[in-house]
Amino acid sequence: MCAEHVTPTTLRQHTTQQLIDSMALTLQDQPGVGLAAPQVGEQLRVIVAEDKSEYHKKLSKQLLKAQGRVPVPLTVIVNPEIEIIDDALQYFFEGCLSVEGYRAVVPRARSVRVKGLDRDGEPLEVKAEGWFARILQHEFDHLQGDLYLSKMLPHTFVSEKNFAKDWIDALPYEISKLVDQKRSKI
Ligand code: ZN
Repeated sequence: MCAEHVTPTTLRQHTTQQLIDSMALTLQDQPGVGLAAPQVGEQLRVIVAEDKSEYHKKLSKQLLKAQGRVPVPLTVIVNPEIEIIDDALQYFFEGCLSVEGYRAVVPRARSVRVKGLDRDGEPLEVKAEGWFARILQHEFDHLQGDLYLSKMLPHTFVSEKNFAKDWIDALPYEISKLVDQKRSKI
C-alpha cells in the first residue's frame, strides 16, 4: 500500500505535527537512522532521518569512509520525490526497525536528490551521498509499501547476532566475496 500525499491543511494540523515529533523521538529511542510514517501506523508520506556521530563510534574509520557515512542532523521530509543522481550500486548490510533482528546486503544507488517539503510546508531539497542516500532510498521505499526484503540479496540475510559477530566491520571487498559466493554457485 502506498502512503498518501500530505495536503497543506493536513500538514498544519496539530496531529500531524505531533506525529512528526513522535517519529523523531521513536528514532532516537530505538535507536535508528530513519523512519517512515507507515512504520508507526500512519499512511502518510512523511520520513525522518538522523545519523548521530555517537552511532559511528563502534565502526572503523575505514568502514565509515567506504560507506560515505557522516553525521546527519534530524531531517524531516514531507511528500518526498526521489531522483537517482549516481546509480553506481553500493553493497552494504542494512537493517530495518520493522524487521527487527535481521540484516541483509541491499544494493543502493550511491547518490540521490530528494525534493519535498519541510514540516512547515516550505520546499526542501536534499542532495545525499553514501549512507544518507541509502537511508533516504530505504525510507522512500516504505512510503511505496516496500521493505528492504524485496531488494536484498536473499543469500546475505543474517540474524542481527551473526551480523554483529561476522559482518559489522565488513568492508566492500569482503561483502563482494559474500555477494559473489552465490553467483559462483549458480
Ligand atoms: Zn525500514
